[in-house]
Amino acid sequence: PSHEDLDRLAAESRKRWAGNAFEWTKRIDEINYNVFGHRKFRDTQREVINATMAGHDTLVLMPTGGGKSLCYQVAALALPGLTVVISPLIALIADQASALDGRNVRVGVLAGCASDDQRRATLSDIASGSPQTKIVFTTPEMVTASDALKGALARCNDRGNFSLVVVDECHCVSQWGHDFRSDYLSLNIFKNSFPNVTVMALTATATPPVAIDIIKNLGLSANYQHFTQSMNRPNLFYEVRPKTSKATVKDIVAFIRTKFHNKAGIVYGFSRRECEDVARQLYAARIPALHYHAGLDPSARQNVQNKWMDGRVKVIVATIAFGMGINKPDVRFVVHYTMPKSMEGLFQEAGRAGRDGLDAHCLVYFSYKDKTRIESLIDRNTETSWVQKREEKSKIAHVVRYCLNKVDCRRFLQLAHFGRTFDPAKCASTCDNCASSAIFAKVDVTKHARNLVTLVKTACKELHRPVTATQVAACYYGSSSKPLVTAGLTRLAQAGAGRGLDRDNINRIVQHLILDGVLSEFSKSRPGPHRGVSTYIQPGSKANAFLDGHTGPMIIAVADKASSASSRKRQRSASSSSRNRPTPNSRTRPTPQALPTDHAAVAAA
Ligand code: ADP
Ligand code: MG
Ligand code: ZN
Repeated sequence: PSHEDLDRLAAESRKRWAGNAFEWTKRIDEINYNVFGHRKFRDTQREVINATMAGHDTLVLMPTGGGKSLCYQVAALALPGLTVVISPLIALIADQASALDGRNVRVGVLAGCASDDQRRATLSDIASGSPQTKIVFTTPEMVTASDALKGALARCNDRGNFSLVVVDECHCVSQWGHDFRSDYLSLNIFKNSFPNVTVMALTATATPPVAIDIIKNLGLSANYQHFTQSMNRPNLFYEVRPKTSKATVKDIVAFIRTKFHNKAGIVYGFSRRECEDVARQLYAARIPALHYHAGLDPSARQNVQNKWMDGRVKVIVATIAFGMGINKPDVRFVVHYTMPKSMEGLFQEAGRAGRDGLDAHCLVYFSYKDKTRIESLIDRNTETSWVQKREEKSKIAHVVRYCLNKVDCRRFLQLAHFGRTFDPAKCASTCDNCASSAIFAKVDVTKHARNLVTLVKTACKELHRPVTATQVAACYYGSSSKPLVTAGLTRLAQAGAGRGLDRDNINRIVQHLILDGVLSEFSKSRPGPHRGVSTYIQPGSKANAFLDGHTGPMIIAVADKASSASSRKRQRSASSSSRNRPTPNSRTRPTPQALPTDHAAVAAA
């Protein structure tokens, strides 16, 4: 199957098994609350449990931290007989077993971490045919090797007391997966020897070929049900704001004060120094914040993490070294002070917000300067090949496009990046673009784009100095500022041809040309009193193809200034009237502060 087929199967399964009207509904709700202390099920958990209770094999895809364990734990306790859980790692088994033991669930362990006596006791309990043990954890190696286990399970099954087999990390059964384990192949004995026993296979990662392998190698029955926890996180609000070097921390302070006073959050910074800087500035604005990065020694890092986890400090300013394996459910906001380096990074890092299912806000500050800064670090990295460098830059380009996009639904854009579909109508104004009342027009700017490329080409040929993107845009706009005149730009062909256009839009055209490889950037050190490194532009590898019309028209969305001015008025009157009258959507949603005209400034920053 393709991603789409799997998505369709998952949609069907979800529809079929959602709902609270099954004969076991009361029972699973009670177990969820009384044994595990959860008031609710998370996305997909109830569906998986329902299908399992009804006796269907299942293949369950949920991202890490999505709550896979609860699916089989609740089902195991709600079903009458024994559940066998196969897990690849002794450490995971020990963890799970002791957690369940602490909740007074009768568990047995048939793996290296249990003593001989314990194992013997568990085996003879199962062999009794009506075991006291509810859940037995074991490894694929044990299943392959132990005839005693197979015999015991057969006796248990003969008495009708073997209910469920759980295969955790089931992608290990596929040679296409990233950690194939040959012992997983022997797990087909369950469906072969006990076809009546339900199988639940769980993993966080299964591309379509891996999914096919799992179904085939485990021998799941033809009416198996497929579940995917949606990659859409409906409780997260996504927003991109322009980053201006001076005002951004102030903006973050205002953001936290007005929306998330005393709430837990993460601010991601790009470098160690940036994290320390931002944390210090937040502290100075009386927002207790600590920095966290790989440069701290392990005990200091642990200390910062503990303080944040137990709520003594609300805000952590961290590099991406922070977050892996950290499971704090009540993170209310994730801010990227500097844009993430890939869409995957964006999704992962923003995804740490709102694990408890309550509303949370994900905010990215974008500036074109940051893109250049990250790229120059990639260039300077001596440990990566040029192929890797090219790869990393193309990942950044995706993020830049995402940030520059002021029109399309952010959920749609994110999910499209992962090959998934999402109907923007379902966003219901939970991203800045969907919530914006700005009116955009798709405009064919091919003519201006060609003019700009010609301008850059001529400048490179005729002037004896490199030109910057800002200079080119200003020159096209018709500026006659002294530096431009001195540099000779105002004398070039096409100078001033863009007079009357919106300046932000000229900047955006130039940026799109760079992203498309029609123009390219290069850095050069600048001598003299303002020493440093500047970024200049020149015709890129696709310049000639573009000028010759081989690359298709260039269409960008531009804000209609007149309409956005009136929409601002509309917004204002809407918010004043909403004070008296509840709006249909009275869920308290954070609303974006950036207005359409500020959006356009993103590109100019
Ligand atoms: P996975 O195996 O999918 O990576 P886990 O099963 O380890 O994830 O669950 C991750 C966390 O989510 C655990 O701390 C668990 O207690 C919590 N959790 C799971 N289901 C729920 C729920 N319905 N309500 C609240 N917390 C939950
Ligand atoms: Mg797990
Ligand atoms: Zn949206």
